[in-house]
Amino acid sequence: MAEQDARPARPARSDTREASELRAIKARNPELADAVDMHLELIELHRRIQGRVPLPWFELNAEILARHEAEARPLLRFEDIPLELTDLRLIVRQTADVLRRFGSLDEPDYQKAQSLGRDMTLLAVASQWYRTVSERGATAAVGMAADAAGPPLDAVFDQVLTLAMRPFLSRCAEVLQQRPDLSLWTHPHCALCGSEPDFAVITPAAERHLICGRCTLRWKFESLTCPYCRNSNRAQITSFATPDGQYRVYACDVCHRYLKAYDGRRASRPVMPVVDGVATLPLDAAAIQRGYQ
Ligand SMILES: [Zn+2]
Ligand SMILES: [Zn+2]
Repeated sequence: MAEQDARPARPARSDTREASELRAIKARNPELADAVDMHLELIELHRRIQGRVPLPWFELNAEILARHEAEARPLLRFEDIPLELTDLRLIVRQTADVLRRFGSLDEPDYQKAQSLGRDMTLLAVASQWYRTVSERGATAAVGMAADAAGPPLDAVFDQVLTLAMRPFLSRCAEVLQQRPDLSLWTHPHCALCGSEPDFAVITPAAERHLICGRCTLRWKFESLTCPYCRNSNRAQITSFATPDGQYRVYACDVCHRYLKAYDGRRASRPVMPVVDGVATLPLDAAAIQRGYQ
């Protein structure tokens, strides 16, 4: 026992760059402590699962990308995601535990999420969750009814699966992210999974790259077009920066939605969607107060 006690303390498990940036946010903004602690636990779950996810294989070349671009159809089919059912069940239940502990799920929703994590229908629900969105982007682009892809999923399942599927989907995004022909993609929804962006980054070359809310793929999109309704009338886009110049908000006066961006032009580190999402929680409050959603 004495010998064990003499060992140096183990480093914190999530001792990654993201984790240390998150801790720095907590030190500067004690009011964000709960959000930081919750995301520290979520990235640790993510890291443990992602380490076991193999790089997926799916066919990808300039011709395929050009065809998908023309049809506004995302590249990744549900069956190409390297999903391991045991791992998915585990991360669904663990994600629900974390969300419950931090008050992001109430008890009935927590029970629903837990039973999803034990249920044999999990893959079917995950498939529906994935396809509903991956097909919605393309149907919207060609003017079909938005509900052509099926009924909406339970909001709790969406909340939990968005986090639980990320280790698998972000692995797939790594494959596409490295392709130079990704620059062919001009749509506001994700080239890989079809989801909407939920963050953006301004590159040193002053381009705006959108970041997918599901798989974290990044792709270039016009700086002053709203990615949610494609309004490109600059008079109807309100854009403002934080006092330190680190973040920018683009708010659309047509659809009343907004997008936050990390300004990488004078930044000391690359964008980190989870970290920057937490750091900009006060900006969400400001945008919502101005009537955006
Ligand atoms: Zn995506
Ligand atoms: Zn809009």
